Amino acid sequence: MTEAAIAPAAAPAPLLSVGNLTKAFPIRGGLMKRQIGSVRAVDGVNFDIEPSETFGLVGESGCGKSTTGRCVLRLIEPSSGELRFEGKDVIALSGEGLRALRRDIQIIFQDPYASLNPRMTIGAIIGEALTIHGLAASRQQYEARIVHLLETVGLQADHMTRYPHEFSGGQRQRIGIARAIAVEPKLIICDEPVSALDVSIQAQVINLLEDLQQKFGIAYLFVAHDLSVVEHISRRVAVMYLGRIVETASSRQLYSSPKHPYTEALLSAVPIPDPSVKRKRVRLKGEVPSPINPPTGCHFHTRCPIAKDVCSKEVPPLKASAEGHLVACHFR
Ligand code: SF4
Repeated sequence: MTEAAIAPAAAPAPLLSVGNLTKAFPIRGGLMKRQIGSVRAVDGVNFDIEPSETFGLVGESGCGKSTTGRCVLRLIEPSSGELRFEGKDVIALSGEGLRALRRDIQIIFQDPYASLNPRMTIGAIIGEALTIHGLAASRQQYEARIVHLLETVGLQADHMTRYPHEFSGGQRQRIGIARAIAVEPKLIICDEPVSALDVSIQAQVINLLEDLQQKFGIAYLFVAHDLSVVEHISRRVAVMYLGRIVETASSRQLYSSPKHPYTEALLSAVPIPDPSVKRKRVRLKGEVPSPINPPTGCHFHTRCPIAKDVCSKEVPPLKASAEGHLVACHFR
């Protein structure tokens, strides 16, 4: 056997690599609107996403998960840190490079209605991206492509002449998905894509996203505030609290054996379909503190049921508790 044959297989290069990403928004005040402080919405976030993988990013409203997603696409400019997509430095991109990135990375929004121009037909909404990126050589090809995209997401060819207000919430999200996949992206940022939908429709949209991943090998960064939504679709999940990742693990590890007290509390609120399985409900004290003036040390110490003195003084590093399972807690 040759040396090459026994060498371990190289780990696949990540599609997206996020390193120590930070985003601070200025706070302005006074008559002159001078900067009087800043909010660190994203505070040193690290993760990788592999090709065709779904990575879930979960946390309560205001934890920085959507800001992280928007920084990846440069819809919001990061304050510092590193973003690499297929090895390219995303922060250094401009002009044509940035346009190419926005073909490779697409986004689906929480409110599909707000993100669809009410004055444009569905055909024009989906076709816009084909035109911008020069993906249809003729009118005939353009229309055939739109019909194919509509059918791929479970809509019909004759929907292309209608307007967004003629569709239900679930159908509008399908239109948003058709628009996103029109340019054959490698990664889609799904920013709370099912939060505004009824539970039965949520499952249909998630199934559609899974089918599209199987067919086209698309990776997803799936942002959600609800752990139950990301459980089935994600291979790995990160939990965020006040701008920081507090736990990352495979979906199976996180749901069967959460380590961080915040993850435990979030999971304890997720209903279990089997009534014979009991889960102890962990009720957190108070509300999420203001990100303008977050608690010192571990941001979670003001609500943590097991906090000790050290927690308000020292930031717990994100360290391995098992293979592929990272947790930021002094006591776990
Ligand atoms: Fe709770 Fe302290 Fe762990 Fe933070 S570091 S999660 S406050 S025990």
